[in-house]
Amino acid sequence: MANGTDTRTRGAEAGTARLSEHCELAKRPEYADLHRDCRRLEDHHMPAEPRIVLTPRCGCSCHGGAR
Ligand SMILES: [Zn+2]
Ligand SMILES: [Zn+2]
Repeated sequence: MANGTDTRTRGAEAGTARLSEHCELAKRPEYADLHRDCRRLEDHHMPAEPRIVLTPRCGCSCHGGAR
């Protein structure tokens, strides 16, 4: 019997930006400086399995696409 586990979209909720620890904290005014410490600018993949993202790129708007 299948137990209903759906692996297709696990952990990929639209509209929910994945923030690094730094930027997550930096959402608080008193920690705003931490945006500058975030270096999670690209996805980190598992070496043996490049299609698996270990640590997704930080989705914080402080890295924004606008330049
Ligand atoms: Zn940020
Ligand atoms: Zn960030």
